[in-house]
Amino acid sequence: MQFKDLGLDNRLLKNLNHYAFKKPTDIQKQAIPVAIAGKDLLASSKTGSGKTLAFVLPMLHKSLKSKAFSAKDPRGLILAPTRELAKQVYGELRAMLGGLTYDATLIVGGENFNDQVKALRRYPKFIVATPGRLADHLEHKSLFLDGLETLVLDEADRMLDLGFAPELRRINNAAKHRRRQTLMFSATLDHAEVNDIAAEMQDSPKRIAVGISNQEHQDITQKFYLCDHLDHKEAILERVLEESEYRQVIIFTATRDDTERLTAKLNEKKLKAIALSGNLNQTQRNTIMSQFERAVFKILVTTDVASRGLDIANVTHVINFDMPKHTEEYVHRVGRTGRAGNKGDAVSLVGPKDWDSFKRVEAYLHQDLAFSTLEGLEGKFKGLRPKKPVSRNGKVDYRNKNKQTAKKAPKKPVKRDKGFYQNVAVGDSVFIPKKKVAPKSDDE
Ligand code: ADP
Ligand code: MG
Repeated sequence: MQFKDLGLDNRLLKNLNHYAFKKPTDIQKQAIPVAIAGKDLLASSKTGSGKTLAFVLPMLHKSLKSKAFSAKDPRGLILAPTRELAKQVYGELRAMLGGLTYDATLIVGGENFNDQVKALRRYPKFIVATPGRLADHLEHKSLFLDGLETLVLDEADRMLDLGFAPELRRINNAAKHRRRQTLMFSATLDHAEVNDIAAEMQDSPKRIAVGISNQEHQDITQKFYLCDHLDHKEAILERVLEESEYRQVIIFTATRDDTERLTAKLNEKKLKAIALSGNLNQTQRNTIMSQFERAVFKILVTTDVASRGLDIANVTHVINFDMPKHTEEYVHRVGRTGRAGNKGDAVSLVGPKDWDSFKRVEAYLHQDLAFSTLEGLEGKFKGLRPKKPVSRNGKVDYRNKNKQTAKKAPKKPVKRDKGFYQNVAVGDSVFIPKKKVAPKSDDE
């Protein structure tokens, strides 16, 4: 099947051809006809499978084929959880706007508000935005959404995790009319909050899931190493970097401070690394991303601010220096490699503090994850014992009490409903219940 078989407007086909996109990916094949038909859509497919064009193309096609509801209001609005992702989606939108008379603008936090007001006064037909800043502009009346035809939520679940539900509702209410179409996309949409917001914002959406979110990604090789402490992690990291022929690497740490600390360590070792975290100002963030994209730096050390959506061609390796707090971020982090059919490697370092998170990831992926070792760097840590050894019938089994039973710890299914972290109990420490409104720490 070719793009032309999807019935897309010739001008869009020409742009696709210009960028040498020939055949639609599976999600594009399935989502584009449904979206062109005007149906609401709740779509998921693995990382790197081309979801962006799956919403950009039908949004533009519909605008080319129909008269605008309003002369001034935007026809399409795409929301994304981070500034970097919004910028990337905007780039892809601009590429598909080639040769068309439509204007588009990017509205993200951290940039000058008044400049954005001016850009909005030129009545762009398409907007890509982060939800916080867009909601600010609605309040300020810099734009109206009464004529909005297509609303897209890219990485919808992450926007909810970051506490953007109120902003999403405000945006939804400003664009509430019968003919609006709402498209939601992510690699992980199996999230109760997503269903709630979808029920509010969508009208009998069609669900499309190409594969399931926790299915093994065929193009990504995963490895796990047990680590005793920070120095041990650093030694393993160094060895992994030495032994792998990476082109570019993204290393994820738990906190912003860790990005700085680890970057300094790598630079001491003459490894060209740069740190990106949400507390930098927007100019710094832009410069860092641009330097990494141009491979001025081969290693990016970051937090979950970069776990979603970013598509950087040469990222051959992803390293979880610390395991993620939110289980599904594992899927998104490792999905920064192995994109569009390329191969990638993902390495995760699992110390005592990461153990609970590791077990949750293991349960989420429905896989028994094995550990690798490196000669001379074998550690002592073998995993934590579950708090209460539980036998298969659910009764406490004290026979195991003195053994390291971590590998055989019973897996409780991760229940995917509100505050789902509360339902998982593997390992020694207490789980921190997921906050309803998370601090908008690393994002807009
Ligand atoms: P996702 O949102 O599913 O993670 P993206 O939309 O970022 O994936 O696309 C991943 C990569 O695949 C991008 O570099 C994009 O340009 C490329 N891509 C998208 N569609 C196609 C296609 N039909 N053929 C080849 N490459 C594509
Ligand atoms: Mg994407």
